[in-house]
Amino acid sequence: MATVSFTIDGKNVMAEEGTSLLEAAKSAGIEIPHLCYMEGLATGACRLCVVEVEGQKNLAASCVFPVANKLVVKTATERVIRARKNVIELLLSDHPLDCMTCEKSGACGLEKYAYELGVTGSRFAGERHHYPLDDTNPFFFRDYNKCILCGRCVLACNDVQFVEAINFAHRGFGCKIAAPYDRSLKDSTCIFCGQCVASCPTGALVEKSRCAAGREWDLQKVTTTCSYCGVGCTLELSVKDGRIVKVTTPADAVVNKGRLCVKGRFGWDYVHSPERLTAPLIRVGEKGEGKFREATWDEALDLVARKFSEIKSESGSDSLACLSSAKCTNEENYLVQKFVRAVLGTNNVDHCARL
Ligand code: SF4
Ligand code: SF4
Ligand code: SF4
Repeated sequence: MATVSFTIDGKNVMAEEGTSLLEAAKSAGIEIPHLCYMEGLATGACRLCVVEVEGQKNLAASCVFPVANKLVVKTATERVIRARKNVIELLLSDHPLDCMTCEKSGACGLEKYAYELGVTGSRFAGERHHYPLDDTNPFFFRDYNKCILCGRCVLACNDVQFVEAINFAHRGFGCKIAAPYDRSLKDSTCIFCGQCVASCPTGALVEKSRCAAGREWDLQKVTTTCSYCGVGCTLELSVKDGRIVKVTTPADAVVNKGRLCVKGRFGWDYVHSPERLTAPLIRVGEKGEGKFREATWDEALDLVARKFSEIKSESGSDSLACLSSAKCTNEENYLVQKFVRAVLGTNNVDHCARL
């Protein structure tokens, strides 16, 4: 692809043809404010990313304006700042100003840009929405009153996860994001991956687990790997006082590139289950039919090794078999087959993902 050369805020920038001004500016270290733009996906809906392009009468939405040779772009002129303040004020004209109790405070795009632009309220008085909180699914709340109709959740559902469970419904002031026929997500094709929640820049979509569980800046971030399946997605746990509050994933995660499924994002409550096994158990009593008792790892592994040896010497290696799991890493699965072939002496080894 051809490379073009132009200037942004006086800085010479080179970018591939077809790149948007917003993306080219970002790679040159110039951050242009945006609410509806997501990595590689743009609709030009929010108009917060407007910039001045020399020779253009109107301000240009930089997320959908392609780069071209010899463009002269200014991202922070008085006119641009005035337009951005207007956008924020218009959004706030129908948005609750309850940042002090909002679960998204500290991670909200609207709050961030209102702060950066010094917008404390709105000059625009008019009709406001008073929707009830949508509590109809097990994993997240939808607060329509905080929705700015940026469309990021729609892009996330349709163009990232390819589920197409939600879209814009109704028109004008009644426009909202909804599943077909405005039904509950539970009655739609939604797979509860939570990609929409992760993409929402405001408090309109919030994980139920994180409600009243701590302010965003108090959450400790712990990077780990999902243990549910062999894909091995990167997880970022938000932890408060030793307990998981929510699970997200970095946009640049190598394996999953910012995506998770319902298990990885919402299926982690077992971590804090009081019924979780934390030590090996050995069944005691005649022929092992009695109760379990707790054992040390050394004792449990010695017992298993002894039993394997007994079976092998009494009935031969092929009386043993091993079934491995997609929840193990490739390295662990390699070790399992090595152990079965080299130590137990049989080729009776299989893997659940092959079935
Ligand atoms: S949870 Fe996933 S499938 Fe359901 S609406 Fe959100 S993005 Fe779409
Ligand atoms: S729910 Fe969030 S992501 Fe979806 S349109 Fe509203 S503000 Fe944007
Ligand atoms: S998040 Fe889903 S796909 Fe990713 S490793 Fe976990 S279970 Fe597998």
